Amino acid sequence: MIQRCRECGKEYDVDEIIYNCECGGLLEIKYDLEKIKNEVSKEQLRERRSGVWRYLEYLPVKDTNKIVSLWEGGTPLYKCDNLAKKLGLKELYIKNEGANPTGSFKDRGMTVGVTRANELGAPVVGCASTGNTSASLAAYSARSGKKCIVLLPGGKVALGKLAQAMFYGAKVVQINGNFDQALVMIKNLALENKLYLLNSVNPFRLEGQKTIGFEICDQLDFEAPSTVILPVGNAGNISAIWKGFKEFKETDLIDSLPKMIGIQAEGAQPIVKAYKAQKDNINPEDNPETIATAIRIGNPVNAVKALEAIYQSNGLAEFVSDEEITAAQKLLAQTEGIFVEPASASSIAGLIKLLDMGAIDKEGKIVCITTGNGLKDPDAAIKASTLPSEIECDMEILKKVIEE
Ligand SMILES: *Cc1c(COP(=O)(O)O)cnc(C)c1O
Ligand SMILES: [Zn+2]
Repeated sequence: MIQRCRECGKEYDVDEIIYNCECGGLLEIKYDLEKIKNEVSKEQLRERRSGVWRYLEYLPVKDTNKIVSLWEGGTPLYKCDNLAKKLGLKELYIKNEGANPTGSFKDRGMTVGVTRANELGAPVVGCASTGNTSASLAAYSARSGKKCIVLLPGGKVALGKLAQAMFYGAKVVQINGNFDQALVMIKNLALENKLYLLNSVNPFRLEGQKTIGFEICDQLDFEAPSTVILPVGNAGNISAIWKGFKEFKETDLIDSLPKMIGIQAEGAQPIVKAYKAQKDNINPEDNPETIATAIRIGNPVNAVKALEAIYQSNGLAEFVSDEEITAAQKLLAQTEGIFVEPASASSIAGLIKLLDMGAIDKEGKIVCITTGNGLKDPDAAIKASTLPSEIECDMEILKKVIEE
């Protein structure tokens, strides 16, 4: 395995600590897939415990003794017949990444990223984060005895995420600026060798996240869905998952590939705009704003990879409004019992919008990825709810109230 620049093709040893190629291009981990194809079989994978490390041959780790794990992955793929019926769909699934140890898919990336930091002997790790990355990195650093530094954007950070990052013992710094600025600052620290950077510009983290793609196929009996819909912020996840599907196909574990559909918020949609103009790169947005704080990002680092995933897979990108997000968040909770944070609900909101537009095949196997747990952002949920009515301890009043 090797790190390769997706722009100029220059190759780097996996032990070289480098976040971008000399040319500025994004790096990607490449494997000898022919060899992996001969090494793995469905039956053999199935004998292992479910989760990220079930797919060890596809992961960039040499020394399995260095693995830092909290049993991430192995999340449920719920068949959602109630919601499917409401939307007129044949087969709808929710891949609920909120069921990960710290409540988001970031754990899949961090188990690999922090393991890598272990292999490299890095004592300090860091990231910029809208919340979930910091919660996850803080947990995995605690488990591996590393110091963790996280930079958060100014303004509101979802309370659950902030509580986690602080409680796991990270050094948490909030800047008077947005996420994109926080990322520039933490990256500067990394380039001065003050810490090992674990944002999604780090290709090793994306290797962990690609297991979402593996797992969806695994859970569908080694069949790929027809469509995958997910929220897009910094755009690492959609790129990673597409890579996962492609690697499973190249190693003969599946024989088709899904369309990748990326959903952004109306107030932070650089990738949607690029897609609609059929461009290969974005124009950054200066003041991203949305209730879905996990995707409040104006200059997504992995934009070129994400756009490639969308074009290659014959997918698309669409935006949804904050109102549509909140409505979808409620609908999912109340029809299927799945409580997700606002960013995650954008995949459902996107599905509904695209169905209205006639842009989705209703007969296919559709998978929406819900990326984070609803408890992450209690404020958003409470704001969208009717608060409980308070009554005297009186049976008559109670009976009246429950009839309302
Ligand atoms: C990080 C995150 C996203 C965005 O993922 P990207 O890889 O940055 O596109 C979406 N939803 C949640 C809950 C997240 O934590
Ligand atoms: Zn290059």
